[in-house]
Amino acid sequence: MEITVMKFGGTSVKNNDRMIAAAEKIAAEHRRGRGVVAVVSAQGKFTDELIAKAQDINEKPELREMDALLSAGEQISCSLLAMAVAAQGVPSIAMSGWQAGFVTNGSFGSARIDHLEIDRVQKALDEGKAVIVAGFQGISDGDITTLGRGGSDTSAVALAAALNASTCRIYTDVDGVYTADPRIVKSAQKLEGISYDEMFEMASLGAGVMHNRSIKLAKKFGVPLEVRSSITDNPGTMIKERFPLENVKIRGAACDKDIAEISVVGISNIPGLASKLFIALTENDITPDMITQSLGSDNSWNISFTVHSNNADKALYIINKLRKELGAVRIDCLKDVAKVSIIGSGIMENPKIPAQMFTALTEANVNIRMISTSELKLSVVVDADEGHRALVAVHGAFFGE
Ligand code: ADP
Ligand code: ASP
Ligand code: MG
Repeated sequence: MEITVMKFGGTSVKNNDRMIAAAEKIAAEHRRGRGVVAVVSAQGKFTDELIAKAQDINEKPELREMDALLSAGEQISCSLLAMAVAAQGVPSIAMSGWQAGFVTNGSFGSARIDHLEIDRVQKALDEGKAVIVAGFQGISDGDITTLGRGGSDTSAVALAAALNASTCRIYTDVDGVYTADPRIVKSAQKLEGISYDEMFEMASLGAGVMHNRSIKLAKKFGVPLEVRSSITDNPGTMIKERFPLENVKIRGAACDKDIAEISVVGISNIPGLASKLFIALTENDITPDMITQSLGSDNSWNISFTVHSNNADKALYIINKLRKELGAVRIDCLKDVAKVSIIGSGIMENPKIPAQMFTALTEANVNIRMISTSELKLSVVVDADEGHRALVAVHGAFFGE
């Protein structure tokens, strides 16, 4: 039996009408004679509401209790969706993450899937049922875990890989992946297709349309993905191993506001101190990005880098402990910065691309704080309140206004 995995995000099940529309899509796929597994997110902004509720009670709740709480959002929507599918005359069964066999590590709030015990889902499929699975969650040593914000995409891809599904469709509130977030950049264009590597970069650099870990997993297991609308029937965007770039060298642009810039000022000019600093950070699961080094006063060094904003306080704590050893005179942390990037497998092919990007920023009067390049991306750090303006300017330079 050919299997289709369908994932419905929060806006695609936000009320009864949307839930019924999703159920109709599931029922139609089932009637086509396919095995159907649907993965569902919490309704609308329900996860945010649960986080706010918890914070009202305790500013720093235990991560274990948070995961038990947040997983409830997906459990509500998967039960309701199974009822809506049954109302279409299609036999269905709802399963929480652990019932569907998601075994994870114990990192509450950002758990990694270890493996899937797929028997129960497989049995339900063999019985002809549409299986509706709560996304974003699993179990570790008997405790409920969640996979991190936006993690339902990763649940869907993991199921598609485990079931060897021939199709994995991500239904959302846009009809595909665009050259930039269409909510911010009005001239953004829908992409017919994009490679896994480019989509991973886009997602990691702020294009919130897909959870970046889901793309890694899809690439690893060769799961072809389609991002499409849950509202219209427009063809979506295919994400697969290779998708040739035609006239342009860039696939898209993105802005990430969840970063912080840390500067360690006045590090002694002795070999080995930079490695000490970065070993301490990475040993504490902090990934520094966009590292720059400049000569400071008195023959000392300044090192600046960015980290995810969630990690900024932890990074400061670690560096402060090393401060004496580094000889640092000051540690600065700027949280109101943003990273604006262009992404594409053709970036390195054209040496004019960086100058084109910087010119667009200059014309938009945006000051560049840091720059970094790699094979697939070119990123700059700018002030947070200039982030969206910078994104529009950079996108305009490569894709037109
Ligand atoms: P869901 O709830 O379905 O998972 P998300 O909110 O996670 O939906 O993702 C869809 C949103 O991603 C869109 O509404 C859009 O604003 C945003 N987005 C950001 N970058 C892009 C992009 N490059 N292409 C399409 N959408 C994007
Ligand atoms: N409900 C979770 C979130 O809002 C997971 C998801 O939607 O994918 O982050
Ligand atoms: Mg999402």
